[in-house]
Amino acid sequence: MQDTFKPAGFGSAAVHAGHEKDPRHAHLVPIYASSTFVYDTAEQGMQRFSGAEPGYIYSRWGNPTFTEAEQKIAALETFGLDVEVKAILHASGMAAIATLFLGTLKPGDKVLSHYSLYGGTNEILFNTMTGLDIRPVIHDLRKLDGVEDAIKADPAIKMLYLETPANPTIQCVDIEALTGIAKRHNLIVACDNTFATPYLQQPFKYGVDFIVHSTTKFLNGHGTAIGGVLLGRDVEQMNKSITKTHRLLGGNSNPFDAFLLINGMKTLELRMDRHCSNAAQVATFLKAHAAVANVNYNGLEDHPDYALSRKQMRQPGAMLSFELKGGLQGGINFLNALQMCVRTVSLGTCDTLLSHPASMTHYGVPRDQRETYGITDGLIRMNVGIENVQDIMADLEQALQQSGT
Ligand code: PLP
Repeated sequence: MQDTFKPAGFGSAAVHAGHEKDPRHAHLVPIYASSTFVYDTAEQGMQRFSGAEPGYIYSRWGNPTFTEAEQKIAALETFGLDVEVKAILHASGMAAIATLFLGTLKPGDKVLSHYSLYGGTNEILFNTMTGLDIRPVIHDLRKLDGVEDAIKADPAIKMLYLETPANPTIQCVDIEALTGIAKRHNLIVACDNTFATPYLQQPFKYGVDFIVHSTTKFLNGHGTAIGGVLLGRDVEQMNKSITKTHRLLGGNSNPFDAFLLINGMKTLELRMDRHCSNAAQVATFLKAHAAVANVNYNGLEDHPDYALSRKQMRQPGAMLSFELKGGLQGGINFLNALQMCVRTVSLGTCDTLLSHPASMTHYGVPRDQRETYGITDGLIRMNVGIENVQDIMADLEQALQQSGT
């Protein structure tokens, strides 16, 4: 796609954005499996190291296959917006989150966040970062009243960190309102957009400074590679201090995984539409089921986040969680009875995946803490896949019958 062509549809950008013409006329970007890059002369090497000449040096610092993935994600996160951002591909979502925290915070700083975060994010905030004297302050950010007072009461709070919808409860927080409050106090605002993807939600629209993704999920879309990305709207900061932190931490991607990610992202719109329409039908089915006590799905009209998710998301997404009446044993019986849907952690793949946060993703989070976040013993998290929805519901039905009530 020529730089002058501005696609009107997100799907066209997903297919074409980020691609640069290959000097050897390959249709797709090659997998540049090379750790290092050569210079025509010693002087050229010097120019590259000094930054006077653009060009690749060493793949921990950057690689042409990474560049295509980075440019595509940046184009999708800013599609239709008048914002310029820079994306840096990482080895994982956690690597991107580590670069964010270590590249922007210093000892004594605090991070304001909310209940129900991805378990790894929770652990890095509560364990790793506290060792560096960077501490989390957790508030119920779904209640906007009191957020400003909490910020005013603690001048050490330097960052607002959001994850919406959040893992695993699928709760939402109001990106626009919270960013507005945070910006009145000059906080850095970061948002994990993994569950929504840029097709469903674009946090840069509301003025956030950074977006992180675990690209392992819907962006890759096929469960073939672990990856992450950090995007920032201060391009100079991204090019300087954030790039430096990323390079020194060594959390770079690899060319093969970047290639898989690029190809996965091309079908993002198609996949998300199907994921979302299947999820809506599955949520309605579960809600009416005698073995299910409660369904957390933002697309259900009686869900507390229904209005908010309609405001900030194109569709409510593909993730839901539900509580079985059979409790912990019911959850185990149910998972064991599944025949087509898959028992595993992770999400964002074509197939329907079900997991049990209390014993899997949030195993490291103390019980009383995770229960405060709504992660009870019997909670089941579900990534609704793109299979035929009748098959998904038939499998759930026979497994629910074995879960007990
Ligand atoms: N953020 C969210 C919302 C996640 O669900 C995950 C992983 O499940 C991560 C971040 C971490 O990503 P990764 O596993 O790619 O390191």
